[in-house]
Amino acid sequence: METPPFFFYSPNAYALGIIEQRPITCQCCGKARDFHYRGNFYCTTAIDALCPWCIADGSAAEKYEGSFVSDFEGLNPDPRELGLPMSEASMAQVSGHTPGYASWQGDVWLGHCGDACIFLGYVGSKELAPVWSEVRADAVASGWGEENIQHHLHKDGDMTGYLFQCQHCGKHRLHVDAN
Ligand SMILES: [Zn+2]
Ligand SMILES: [Zn+2]
Repeated sequence: METPPFFFYSPNAYALGIIEQRPITCQCCGKARDFHYRGNFYCTTAIDALCPWCIADGSAAEKYEGSFVSDFEGLNPDPRELGLPMSEASMAQVSGHTPGYASWQGDVWLGHCGDACIFLGYVGSKELAPVWSEVRADAVASGWGEENIQHHLHKDGDMTGYLFQCQHCGKHRLHVDAN
């Protein structure tokens, strides 16, 4: 079996089940593949089967003029306007070459130190405890309630945390979404 591509901006995509091992015929490249992308893909064509190779090399994003992210922090019409703008290069890498994640209101990608962050995974209060001092400001700004997030967030619940990490300074950042 061919080893599937690694994603710098989503290093846990396989472990998180965003890409699962399952035989498919990829709609984009037409090849029989052993891995299937289960996350979001924002485009106007209905895509049933997409392989990670077509995500990594950018061919899916190019062919279908799509993006794997719905919003970048600071560039979406978000009144909170958190954080610094991200470099064009890092945003292109995320939107066109990186799997998205499972979300309710859309895949928002955070940035820090001038570049897009690395998505680590889904988190709840328990997982946030060791990095709470780093993500507290994001929790407060999220509008979902600091107390709620610090004590009542579950990674498989109706309100979930999305943990990111800066590729430069290592700081953790948090996005919160609920159904
Ligand atoms: Zn493919
Ligand atoms: Zn940073």
